Amino acid sequence: MILLNVESISKSFGGVTAARDVSFTVARSEMVALIGPNGAGKSTVFNMIGGQLKADHGRVLLENTDITDASPQERFRLGVGRTFQVAQTFLSMTVIENVQMALISHRHESRRAWNPARKLHREEAFTLLERVGMVDIADQPCSTLAYGDVKRLELAVALAGEPRLLLMDEPTAGMALRERAALMDLTSSIVDTMKIGVLFTEHDMDVVFGHADRVLVLLRGKIIAAGSPEEIRNDPQVRQAYLGDSHALARSV
Ligand code: ADP
Ligand code: MG
Repeated sequence: MILLNVESISKSFGGVTAARDVSFTVARSEMVALIGPNGAGKSTVFNMIGGQLKADHGRVLLENTDITDASPQERFRLGVGRTFQVAQTFLSMTVIENVQMALISHRHESRRAWNPARKLHREEAFTLLERVGMVDIADQPCSTLAYGDVKRLELAVALAGEPRLLLMDEPTAGMALRERAALMDLTSSIVDTMKIGVLFTEHDMDVVFGHADRVLVLLRGKIIAAGSPEEIRNDPQVRQAYLGDSHALARSV
């Protein structure tokens, strides 16, 4: 079942065309990687799906609902979630409190309800922490977390918004390679159990080829190839235009 349908979206900034007639789909339970060198237009595409940027033309459909003109808040409400950086989490709170706050915020309950009722949504928050494997450290202050744990918490916070589609723009930035693979393993298992769709970017090709169901290659704002990891790895145009170094690709086979 098609979850996201991106139809020929474009975006220019002054003279720079950051995205040009970009079209693709993401299905339910599918993990799609959008790859390309720095400046290729990946974040621009993410922002046109999340609503932070409005497409110059083209359409964005979420399960057949046209969300092209919807605000980021409306898109979030309709099920377009994204992971936010550390700064968005409340470092002075504990792990579980962060997830409880996300649940409160998603339900439009007043944050003033928080202080007299620190138990609000605690069970549900536990369930989400189970999904990301953080139950053991639920009551630990976020300020003491290792970086990889902060990233897992960001995932739990995003899941509190009950997304149908999760946008992950460089979720593993700043992480060591082993941690990156672990975070994407976790994301894969969540895609399987929660039946959501994920669109992500990642610079490490091993991680991309190991986790994506499908790969889209963006170069100078255009999708130059789309296919399975195998197809992309063997695409001569991709090798030449983007990956350049065929040895780097061979290593990741
Ligand atoms: P990526 O995420 O693949 O690195 P971006 O989408 O961030 O690429 O950027 C694509 C191109 O658009 C780049 O040339 C970048 O400089 C330009 N760009 C992105 N955002 C803006 C903006 N807000 N204003 C002007 N130019 C921008
Ligand atoms: Mg970017």
